[in-house]
Amino acid sequence: MKITTKIIFGIVGGIGVIAGFMCLPNLFSRDYKVLIVAGHRTADNERGAISYYGKWENEFNDAIVNLFIDKKNQLAEVEYVLTPTTRDLSLQAKVKLAEDVKPDLYIEIHHDSGKQEDIDKAKADGIASPLWKSMSGFCILYYDDGDGKESKFPKESKKFAELLSEEMIKGNFHPDTYHARKQDMKLAGENKGICNRVKPKSLFVLRNAISPAIILECGYIINPIDEKVLSNPEIRKKIAQAINNAIVKFRKG
Ligand SMILES: [Zn+2]
Repeated sequence: MKITTKIIFGIVGGIGVIAGFMCLPNLFSRDYKVLIVAGHRTADNERGAISYYGKWENEFNDAIVNLFIDKKNQLAEVEYVLTPTTRDLSLQAKVKLAEDVKPDLYIEIHHDSGKQEDIDKAKADGIASPLWKSMSGFCILYYDDGDGKESKFPKESKKFAELLSEEMIKGNFHPDTYHARKQDMKLAGENKGICNRVKPKSLFVLRNAISPAIILECGYIINPIDEKVLSNPEIRKKIAQAINNAIVKFRKG
C-alpha cells in the first residue's frame, strides 16, 4: 500500500472512530423523561386511605414508586424522576416539580378506597363478604375538560391510560367499576377502568399538568383480599412492568 493510500485510510478511519464516539452518548442517553410521583404525604392526616389491616396508603404508593430505583425495573432509554412521599410535597409543589422537570409523561401512584358506609357494611359482613368484590380493581384517571382550556394533553393522557389499562389487564389485574357505579365518575368508553376526572371531581395535579398525565389507582387496599395481593412484592413488580410496557408502546405512538 502506498503511503498516500495509508494516510487516506488513516484519516477516514480516524473520522469513523470520532463519529462513533460522538454517537455513543446518544446511543446510551436516556432521552425520555418520566416523572413518577407517589400520592399523598407523610403527615398523619395526609397519608391517604387506611388499609383493611391498618396501613397507610402512602406506604403502598411509595413501594411502587421506589421499585423504579432498581435498574432492573428501568427501561434503558428512560430517565425516571421519582418522588416518594418521603419528599413530602404538597399538591402545588408537585405541579411546580413537574414544571421544573418538564417530563414527557407524568404518572402518579395511588391505592384506592370506597365510601365509608360501604366499607363499614362489608366489614360487618366479614372478611369473606361478597361486598368486597364490588370495591376491587385498578382505575386510571386522566383529565379532558372538553375544550382544551385547562387540559393540555387530553388525547395523549387518555391514550396512555388505555395502553396502561391493556397492560394491567394482561397482568391479570381487573378494572374497577365502583367509582362509576357509586361515585358518579365518568367512565371513558367500555369499562377498562379508565375515568375522565371532570369537574366537580377534577384533580389539581391533572388540571395543571404540563405533559400527558395520569393517576393510577393500583387497587383497593380497604379490601382485605386485594390488600394482601397488593402487598406482595411480585405483584408490585408486575404493576411496575405494566407501567414500563405502556411507556414503550406510548413512545412508539
Ligand atoms: Zn390516594
